[in-house]
Amino acid sequence: MALVGITDPGHGGFDPGAMGNGMREGDLTWEFGLKFARNMERSGVKMYFTREKNSTATNNRNAELAYRSNYANEKGASFYISFHINAGGGTGFESYRYPKTDSSTIRLHQLVHGNVAAVFSQSGMTNRGIKTADFAVLRGTNMPAVLLELGFIDNTRDAKIIRTEEFQNKVAEAVARGVCQWLGISYVEEPAEPPQVEGTPIMGEAAATLQQLLGFTRSINEDFPSELPPIYLEIGKRYGIRGDIAFAQMLKETGYFRFGGDVRKEQNNFAGIGAIGDGSSRASFKTMEEGVIAHIQHLYAYCTTKPVLAGETVVDPRFHLVNRGSAPTWEALNGKWAVPGTNYGQEIVSIHQKVMEFKVEPGKDYMGHWAEKEITRVIQEGLMYGDDDGYFYPDRMLTRAELAAILCRLLDR
Ligand SMILES: [Zn+2]
Repeated sequence: MALVGITDPGHGGFDPGAMGNGMREGDLTWEFGLKFARNMERSGVKMYFTREKNSTATNNRNAELAYRSNYANEKGASFYISFHINAGGGTGFESYRYPKTDSSTIRLHQLVHGNVAAVFSQSGMTNRGIKTADFAVLRGTNMPAVLLELGFIDNTRDAKIIRTEEFQNKVAEAVARGVCQWLGISYVEEPAEPPQVEGTPIMGEAAATLQQLLGFTRSINEDFPSELPPIYLEIGKRYGIRGDIAFAQMLKETGYFRFGGDVRKEQNNFAGIGAIGDGSSRASFKTMEEGVIAHIQHLYAYCTTKPVLAGETVVDPRFHLVNRGSAPTWEALNGKWAVPGTNYGQEIVSIHQKVMEFKVEPGKDYMGHWAEKEITRVIQEGLMYGDDDGYFYPDRMLTRAELAAILCRLLDR
C-alpha cells in the first residue's frame, strides 16, 4: 500500500494569517508546504494538501481547522505536517506536538525539529525549542502530527531570510529528510541536472499539418471536433512545445476522443491531469481551449525549468507539483506522467508517426482550415478551383493573373 502524507499549509484564502514586512503568513506557508510535498512525492509518498494555493475548503474560521484534521483522518495519512510562521515580537524557530501523544509522534517531532533547527542555526537564527500545545489540528488528527513555526514574519531579519527561495528549499528538504527517516524510507535527492535521455524532444515546432491531424483522427473517430487541432497547434507554438505530438498524446489519453476512461468528455481534460488535493479524481476545465492550455502547461512544467510566459495564467492544477525539467523528451515521461507507463512516450511518438504518414485526400486538404466555410463556398459558386491534382492547397499564394481570372468570373455574372 502506498504511503500517504498530509501537508497543511497554515491559513490561506479568507485567512491571511499573520502579516509583516510586506508578506502574508498564508503565502509563505504555501511555499514551504509545497516544496516539502514535492520532496516527499519524489521520495515515493503520496501527498495531499489541506487547501489549495489561494483558497480554503471552508470559508469559516470556526469550521476550517476541524475540516483539515478530518480530511487528514479520512485520507488515512500516516503523518501530518502543519506549516506556520510566527509573529508577536520574537525570532527563530519552534515546533509543536500535542501534549499527550505516543512515542511515535515524539520521535517524528524530534527528527523533524532537529533537522529544521540545524538549517535555522546555519542562517544565524535561534532554536526556540521543541514544545507541546493543545492546537486544534494537533488535537483533531489521529496520526502523528507536528506543527512548525518557521521564523517571525514581523521580525525584519527573520523575514529577510524566510522569504528567499533558497532558505525555503533548505527547510523543506530538512523536514522531508526527517519524515523519511521516521518512515524508514530513503530521501530521494533532486537531480542536479535534468537527466540526458535519448529521444524525441517535447520542445520544438510542429511538423504535422492541421489537415493531417484532423484527417487522421476522423479516419478513426468520425465525430472528432474540428476545433481541437488548431487549438493544439496554436497553444503549442505559444509555449514552444510540439503541439502536434501533444495532440497525439491527447489521442492516446482520450482513446481517440471516445473517452470511456475515468474522464468524461465534458471535463475538457485531454491528458488525464489529476485534480489538486486528490490525485485519484480528475480535473475539469471550462472550455476546450482551457483544457489544452492545462495540457500544454503540464508538458511545459516537465520539459523545462523556465517560468511560465509573462501574461499567462497557470490553469494546470498540478503544475507546481511537477519536478520541473525532469522530462525533456516524450520518452522521459515514462513512469512520470503515467505509472508504470513503461512505453508511454514511445506510444505517443508512434501515434504521431501515423499522423505524419496520413495522406490527406484530394479535396479534403482545406477541411478544418479556419477558412473552410469560405473555401467551400467559392468552390461551389465556381469562382475558384484547386490544382489539377485535386488538392486546394489553402495556404498557397495567389498570383495577380489568377486573381484577375477570378475577378472576371465574378464580373461575368
Ligand atoms: Zn499560523
